[in-house]
Amino acid sequence: MNYLKPTTVEEAVKLLAANADARCLAGGASLVAMMNAELVEPSALISLKNIKELDGINVEDDGSVSIGPMTKHKAVVNFDGFLGGQDIVRIAARHIGHPPIRSMGTIGGSIANADPAADYPTALTAVDAIIKTFSSKGERLIPAGKFFIDFMETALEPGEIVRSITIPAGPADAIAVYDKLARVDGDFATVSVAVVLTMDGSNCSFLKMVIGGCDATPVHVTEADDKLIGTDLNDTAIAKAAAIVAEACDPMDDVRASAQYRLKVLPRLINRTIDTARQKWEVR
Ligand SMILES: Cc1cc2nc3c(=O)[nH]c(=O)nc-3n(C[C@H](O)[C@H](O)[C@H](O)COP(=O)(O)OP(=O)(O)OC[C@H]3O[C@@H](n4cnc5c(N)ncnc54)[C@H](O)[C@@H]3O)c2cc1C
Repeated sequence: MNYLKPTTVEEAVKLLAANADARCLAGGASLVAMMNAELVEPSALISLKNIKELDGINVEDDGSVSIGPMTKHKAVVNFDGFLGGQDIVRIAARHIGHPPIRSMGTIGGSIANADPAADYPTALTAVDAIIKTFSSKGERLIPAGKFFIDFMETALEPGEIVRSITIPAGPADAIAVYDKLARVDGDFATVSVAVVLTMDGSNCSFLKMVIGGCDATPVHVTEADDKLIGTDLNDTAIAKAAAIVAEACDPMDDVRASAQYRLKVLPRLINRTIDTARQKWEVR
């Protein structure tokens, strides 16, 4: 197998196009495990490690935050430039695995892998992140809500790489809460909930809620958000919104939990997440 080390994105996509069944190698945390299990057999590994532009985090002039796909989870956790709802990306990164995984895995590898139980997809969907891709055909901008299209499947086309992830600026005072139920500390999510909200007095003025681990892709239902906006986020309103979201979810039975269990805990996790967000707003 060829191990290739391009130094530019142009070179990387040329190599991808020239090597059928080649795979990009980021941190290797998922890809190497899949190779060991003989689930994938790439013809070549194209390491993105030497492409400088793909690593790092920048706050842009418009307040958005651009994250290079080779940025390690640990660097996202340690970044202190997120404002308001953007912070959900840092909080989600903190929930990923254990310190060795956070020192190894990258945000680009995580989203390209598109595991429905992973932490970034849910959080990035909640803040309307934009995924910039690059191939020999040029660049594309794909909203996170359209990037994850099925179980471990993304909108990336053959020969296309993730070039950056942009978190738009939102209200600077927005509260972000990401909560995750996992079998043990450091495991992928059995169920996760991402909430970004603002309040006006005692009523919710903006809210976006996204669910992870309960379908092949993150689940967002605008109608559920609408049930909460304008309310004081009381238990009845939360229960109504949770019922709408649960109806839209099609969870799977797997080693982590049954579909039935996921649907049972989902309303409780939603209640806890929104309650935490409301409390954070009160003491901000
Ligand atoms: C023990 C363990 C526990 C974990 N726990 C969690 C957890 O709790 N939560 C969680 O979210 N994740 C968890 N993970 C996954 C971890 O976050 C991985 O880092 C991540 O899934 C893959 O990132 P990577 O950089 O290692 O990518 P790699 O393994 O190198 O690549 C993964 C896939 O992405 C592709 N790829 C990589 N970069 C790009 C790019 N720029 N453009 C296009 N394709 C690209 C590769 O070709 C490959 O198909 C865990 C992993 C392990 C091993």
